[in-house]
Amino acid sequence: MERHYTLTRLLKRLIAWVLPFALIGWLLDLLWPALAVAFASAVIWHLFYFHRLNHWLWQSRTMLPPQAPGAWSDIYDGIYRTLRRAQIKRRQLSILLQRFRQAAEAIPDAAFVIESDGTLVWSNKLAQIYFGLRWPADRGIRITNLIRYPRFLKYFEIADFDEPITILDPVGEQRDIEMRFMPYTDTQLLVIARDITQLRKLERLRKDFVANVSHELKTPLTVMNGYLELLQDSEGVPPAMVKKAVHDMNLQNQRMQKMVEQLLTLSRMEGQMQDTFTKKVAMVTLIQEVIAELQPIIQAKNIALHVDMSATDAVLGNEEKLRAACSNLITNAIKYGKESGHLRVAWYRVGQFAEFSVEDDGPGIETEHLPRLTERFYRVEKDRNSASGGTGLGLSIVKHALEHHRSYLQIESAPGQGSRFFFRIAPELLVSAN
Ligand code: ADP
Repeated sequence: MERHYTLTRLLKRLIAWVLPFALIGWLLDLLWPALAVAFASAVIWHLFYFHRLNHWLWQSRTMLPPQAPGAWSDIYDGIYRTLRRAQIKRRQLSILLQRFRQAAEAIPDAAFVIESDGTLVWSNKLAQIYFGLRWPADRGIRITNLIRYPRFLKYFEIADFDEPITILDPVGEQRDIEMRFMPYTDTQLLVIARDITQLRKLERLRKDFVANVSHELKTPLTVMNGYLELLQDSEGVPPAMVKKAVHDMNLQNQRMQKMVEQLLTLSRMEGQMQDTFTKKVAMVTLIQEVIAELQPIIQAKNIALHVDMSATDAVLGNEEKLRAACSNLITNAIKYGKESGHLRVAWYRVGQFAEFSVEDDGPGIETEHLPRLTERFYRVEKDRNSASGGTGLGLSIVKHALEHHRSYLQIESAPGQGSRFFFRIAPELLVSAN
């Protein structure tokens, strides 16, 4: 059981020590000398243990106090318990510090702590990568000597940390880094920095996308508005004009409808999780169905169709996407191919791969446009295509559909030489159609 120091106990001990001396002194009629001996021996005894305490505190390496009788055992116990408590606290603090450091390393952001005068106190690994800080070599160095980016220096000088600051990666990679300064302790600031390159890119894409859609919808809406205004007072309008107005409005309407459908297809494809590649898509049947659907326009344009289905392979993948890819490529070849021209559609083997290819003898495409054809809304000649009802979305649908099958669209084309659009499916996604 733990014993505690009390004044009563101390007094009792003193009395217990002095009383025998006093009693003997009184009996021998030597009370005062006996008391003097009692107190002197008490002082010597205490001096001895006082010396042992000092020796233990300053020279001994052990935490355990030496054995001592009486009041000194209370003192030793008291000191020992205080030391133990401090030791446990220290251990808890160091565990806490270690956890904080581990947490700071685990966060996906760069973090460092600086004093209010700007000297570096601590930094995590990511901060060392983003800002080229060295740890612990840079500890105590002013941050403005370590991150020399002018915008950062100015921001730090003004010291208005309410708004974050974005800087271009000071280490030289083209990254946008957003930094936020937060009070940490009374005298320190915690700085969190994150790579927002991707976020900015997405934001730019979103803005471009909204601007593109609005722009694309503006033209048909303007045309339709013009005609509607004209038709409001239809009495003075010649019948031929009315017929043309209805025809044009119909075309614009179809174009808008197609654009909305294609946008929905794109957003559906983007929203779909990675395919599991368990469904078998019979490519030969799929291509024949697509051709059958497009037969009326092939005939209307008097196009000679040549089909080569020498590959019998089916593809493990998503039927809707593969249909969209084939259908868009064949439709384009018909749309941009010349009247009474030739169209070749093929599904055949190239080594271990199977290739889908569509070839036309249309106007062909200038090399500079080729890399951009799969961008959303990208069209080579906007005027010509908008007359043909083009939206610039077909090939971006193809690109998405193929990405899901670990494939990509390849184009061979030159002005006046026709075009060949094709993609290859890797052997691991090919299976026998039966
Ligand atoms: P669109 O709806 O305009 O056809 P696409 O994304 O399908 O949109 O095609 C993008 C552009 O690529 C078209 O506007 C056209 O200029 C060009 N293009 C596509 N296929 C062909 C082709 N077979 N021959 C010539 N140009 C083509």
